[in-house]
Amino acid sequence: MNLILLGPPGAGKGTQSAVLAEKYGLPHISTGDILRESVKAGQGLGLKAKEYMDKGALVPDEVVMGIAADRLKQPDTKKGFILDGFPRTIAQGENLDKELNKMGRGIDLVLYFATSTDVAIERLTGRRVCKSCGFNYHIKNIPPKKDGICDKCGGPLIHRVDDNEATVRNRLKVYEDQTKPLIDYYTKQGTLKKVSGDMGVDELFKVLSKLFKEAKLA
Ligand code: AMP
Repeated sequence: MNLILLGPPGAGKGTQSAVLAEKYGLPHISTGDILRESVKAGQGLGLKAKEYMDKGALVPDEVVMGIAADRLKQPDTKKGFILDGFPRTIAQGENLDKELNKMGRGIDLVLYFATSTDVAIERLTGRRVCKSCGFNYHIKNIPPKKDGICDKCGGPLIHRVDDNEATVRNRLKVYEDQTKPLIDYYTKQGTLKKVSGDMGVDELFKVLSKLFKEAKLA
């Protein structure tokens, strides 16, 4: 099952990707996570990417397309994959099609998580992320059992620098201008399914499982 999760920041793509990855045994490929790893390493690509990420701007297409293409060549993607936060521009979408085509593969479903601006802002400003395993929490909606500590791995929970309200508003604007045109792109390809990103994690998982069954993907 080759999936793309599309939608604004704060739509719950990361949280749902983690659930789907576990239930269906698929790799969760988040270009944001890969970029944050490079930033942590503090060299070359990371240094360049950090400037864009801290502002809530998109990292240049060539950089991200290279990262995604390399990741999709890894053997664990043979059984399928979940792309989270990629593609984010039409150029990235076209490049992805080209790369998958070369491998004799394609996208089965694009899940468009539609979410209101208010919900997205509330989710992102209250989000906490495990520094070690990347699992997402929310101070009100998905609180950890112990304050500041990840339930899964015991790692420390952090508030991402780009999850402050001003940067979140910029990320939402960038989404409107540069990523939203992909809805039309995938609608034309006939792969897009719209779901409500405002639903809770479990409720949405049930909706998606049903969708996969109907599409004979699971
Ligand atoms: P995310 O974790 O998906 O919210 O991504 C965090 C930041 O990483 C974004 O605000 C961008 O600066 C950068 N980023 C992640 N994925 C992409 C992408 N596909 N294209 C450009 N920039 C990206």
